[in-house]
Amino acid sequence: MDIKKTYDTYVLHTYNRVGPIFVRGKGSFLWDTRGEKYLDFFPGWGVSILGHAHPQLAKVLAHQARTLVHLPNNLYHPHQALLAKKIIASSFPGKVFFANSGAEAIEGALKLARAYGKGKRFEIISMEKAFHGRTFGALSATPQAKYQKPFEPLLPGFRSARFGDFEDFVSKVNEKTVAVILEPIQGEGGVNIPSAAYFAKLREFCTQHDILLIVDEVQTGMGRTGTLFCFQNFKITPDVVTLAKGLGGGFPISAFIVQSRFADVLGPGLHASTFGGSPLATRVACEIFDIIKREHILANVHEIEKLCACRLLSFKKRFSIVKDVRGMGAMWAIELAKDGFDFTLRALKEKLILNCTQKVVLRIMPALTITQTVLEDGFRTIAKLLERY
Ligand SMILES: *Cc1c(COP(=O)(O)O)cnc(C)c1O
Repeated sequence: MDIKKTYDTYVLHTYNRVGPIFVRGKGSFLWDTRGEKYLDFFPGWGVSILGHAHPQLAKVLAHQARTLVHLPNNLYHPHQALLAKKIIASSFPGKVFFANSGAEAIEGALKLARAYGKGKRFEIISMEKAFHGRTFGALSATPQAKYQKPFEPLLPGFRSARFGDFEDFVSKVNEKTVAVILEPIQGEGGVNIPSAAYFAKLREFCTQHDILLIVDEVQTGMGRTGTLFCFQNFKITPDVVTLAKGLGGGFPISAFIVQSRFADVLGPGLHASTFGGSPLATRVACEIFDIIKREHILANVHEIEKLCACRLLSFKKRFSIVKDVRGMGAMWAIELAKDGFDFTLRALKEKLILNCTQKVVLRIMPALTITQTVLEDGFRTIAKLLERY
């Protein structure tokens, strides 16, 4: 069977797929149908934080699949409660709602904001170059023309401000503003890192004006930036936090966390998800938390950060094509002076998987379990390619 032809015939063409057909993964590596091995510097688009096919995760997944997969949310099972407790113990006092994808977690957070505003305040400020997902609410908070234009009119009540610019944010606030939503580090927007002072000012202003501070940690959460949640790097406590990508290590699960004082805004019947927080999904996510502790994942992220910072800075010095490098933890960008998509194709030919975003930004988000040796291998390939690009 020709798999690519079958895709073309039967799968909606909403993605431009490239490369071979992958059949197997292990840690930071993937294998294709011909048995060729690839180094994955972007496993699962930031999802597969423990790499591919982590043995302990696979074991727990299989065991839970044989025990109890799904249960409706009007009944109790242990794992949803235990996962919520773990999430709260590692974030801030509050409560958790479970869903299945990043966009869904965002939808829930936006609905909470609307409910909190009681119809009087309903405007939500999001940031230029933000990415919050493809559903209508999440898309309305994603002020990028390429994603929004074909689907207009979007939800009313959204305004955008410049990311990292506190004065611009304040200028967009009015008596109808109920919430602000932002990524602590913009991922799809090009790995853009604001200052801690910006977050401190945002936090203070939101508290003073009773505006919900919603931090989207769908990409930055679960250890990606060196702390379990990225807001901890910036030493602020958000009112609402969304989680998804790394939360299940590849198994679909998302959540949003709400500070205690807003925990009653969404009461019985106001929000729901059929699949959200299933025994299988929450059991797997509990294991992710345990593995992060047991395998000292955050310590490894610090090692990853040191090596990435060092190698990327040297690329900037050596290659004039490299305009800027930036990042934190295991989330890095090499901004090129020209289009980077072709670079990712060349990398693929060299058996290295990279991502390109915002046309010119090469994005590196390795598994948080990656070793120094494997990282160095990938950086050697990148250096070789940069030399000729
Ligand atoms: C990926 C992403 C989303 C959307 O997640 P989906 O699971 O694709 O809906 C939302 N916010 C951020 C910051 C993301 O990186």
